[in-house]
Amino acid sequence: MIPRYLRELVDDLKAELPTERPVSVKVVPMSRAFGSTSLSGRNRITVCIAAGLSQEQAEDTLVHEWGHVLHLDTWEDHGDDWGMYQAQAYRILEARRDEE
Ligand SMILES: [Zn+2]
Repeated sequence: MIPRYLRELVDDLKAELPTERPVSVKVVPMSRAFGSTSLSGRNRITVCIAAGLSQEQAEDTLVHEWGHVLHLDTWEDHGDDWGMYQAQAYRILEARRDEE
């Protein structure tokens, strides 16, 4: 289960920045990071968001991870491509925040 605000953000991200692979988002206990993105053997992408974050932190973390989701095949950590993709994802979050 993930909070409704994350579910809705995931839906908006998927609609506006579609991915080639299915993506699952989970909220899980994590001790060393706010989030992670990984590719499973079955060609699914899993995004983990740390439990216990504020709504704002969780949303920012999801946007950060969506930058990785969108260019997993050319993973270069936090380089120019990631920055461009996470900026696109961030715009979607900003639009949602403006509506509130
Ligand atoms: Zn990262």
